[in-house]
Amino acid sequence: MNSAIWWIRRDLRLHDNPALHAALAHGAVIPLFILDPAILNTRWHRAAIRRREFLLAGLRSLDRALRSVGSRLLVRSGEPVIVLGSLVAESGATAIYAVEDFSPYARRRDAAVQTVLPLTLTDGVTVHHPAWIQRKQGGPYTVFTPFYRAWRAWPMPRDEEILDPPRRLASVPSALSSEPLPPTATMNRFEASETEAHRRLAAFVTDSIYEYGVARDVLAREGTSTLSPYLRFGLLSPRNAVVTALRALGAATDEVARQSAETWLKELVWREFYVQVMYHFPQVLRQAFNPRLREIAWRDDPEHLAAWRYGKTGFPIVDACMRQLLTTGWMHNRGRMIAASFLVKDLLIDWRVGEAWFMQHLIDGDPAANNGGWQWTAGVGTDAAPYFRIFNPVTQGQKFDPEGTFIRRYVPELAKLPTEHIHTPWRMTALEQTMQGVQIGDTYPAPIVDRAQLKARTLAAYRGKGDG
Ligand code: FAD
Repeated sequence: MNSAIWWIRRDLRLHDNPALHAALAHGAVIPLFILDPAILNTRWHRAAIRRREFLLAGLRSLDRALRSVGSRLLVRSGEPVIVLGSLVAESGATAIYAVEDFSPYARRRDAAVQTVLPLTLTDGVTVHHPAWIQRKQGGPYTVFTPFYRAWRAWPMPRDEEILDPPRRLASVPSALSSEPLPPTATMNRFEASETEAHRRLAAFVTDSIYEYGVARDVLAREGTSTLSPYLRFGLLSPRNAVVTALRALGAATDEVARQSAETWLKELVWREFYVQVMYHFPQVLRQAFNPRLREIAWRDDPEHLAAWRYGKTGFPIVDACMRQLLTTGWMHNRGRMIAASFLVKDLLIDWRVGEAWFMQHLIDGDPAANNGGWQWTAGVGTDAAPYFRIFNPVTQGQKFDPEGTFIRRYVPELAKLPTEHIHTPWRMTALEQTMQGVQIGDTYPAPIVDRAQLKARTLAAYRGKGDG
């Protein structure tokens, strides 16, 4: 009987998996995950303990699912081309199938493997391949809205295209050895299993999706799907998410509900947009997309940077967001925008420094989406917020955490402050500070910058007149 290696990378799932499906059509499936030192030993990944834990827990869960249908997961470490070559020789497999990944490293790696081994790439990381959606005059889109329109004009995936998980798989010969996975701690917030991904999706589309238009910006509320780690590692297929969003869209009972569901669908397309930006312009992973904004005189200020990283800037909303990242490995999208804007526009620290910090801490850390989010916030990217628009952390906090519930959750030193002081604790008089049990500059930091002075400095730097 023919056999095929299913090389698992960003598709830790049995449901709706085109690579698994193709391997199954070829013959007996040998599921393989390679612990690739070129990925796991990078600075980003070495430090990203939570993301690695999520990946390892996801692999463990995939192994359990495979065992329940008669198979098992092989784990081997080493350079992919060497690991795959040995496994082909040991098993006699005549094909290798994998879901195509689009990072520059993944593309180089797969091209190298394809020169010596029978590797076939399938879709599965995005709904539409990043090369498909082109402008009428040719070339990729660099602005989201026309990209979205073009994306929506392609045939939408349908329910019946979702691939069922296999009921039974051939057993993997016992002669094929597997390395044990390193042990992992319990993930309280994000259980890494396909079942959990589907549970979250189902819970979200039951009603939250119809309030998403408003709820997605309320920092204290679970108004978003929290599916990003599952989409990042493919415990949920993007096609499944899109089909579910389209079904919810069809079932919307009024215009508000319809628009909310459409907004969520749009977020899934933002994900695809940034994948296609990285695909066509891989240089964005090193520098600003906008060539005119590549030479900004960024400040090198280790003290300010440390205050930002550890949530001690003295601006409660920024500190709450940064502490949410450190304590949970996840940050609300509104929080990501507020925190990123503060680093870049207020502290004038290079967006790439923030991008790297996020990659070290986010469970969902994804090169394309993270880079897109940072370039957007810094105003230097494809579809960027204008660089002269500077978020005010106080008004952002008042608008998106009006009662200070989110701040109180992550900045316990301020938990007892009345709402009137929660966004601007430094404005309390000495007597008020004593009465509230908060000493600014002692139990909670004083603001590290005077925002009134900052705008001119930021604008000068962006216009090329910064003095560093
Ligand atoms: P929902 O609001 O429920 O959205 C559904 C899905 O759509 C998300 O799970 C995600 O896959 C996708 N999505 C939503 N918004 C975006 C967006 N703006 N760009 C790309 N995809 C999006 N997202 C990541 O997945 N990984 C990252 O490393 C990442 N870094 C970011 C850095 C910055 C500075 C900013 C501003 C945004 C970043 N985002 C990133 C996008 C967004 O913040 C997260 O996808 C979102 O907060 C995840 O929460 P959710 O799953 O509840 O999202």
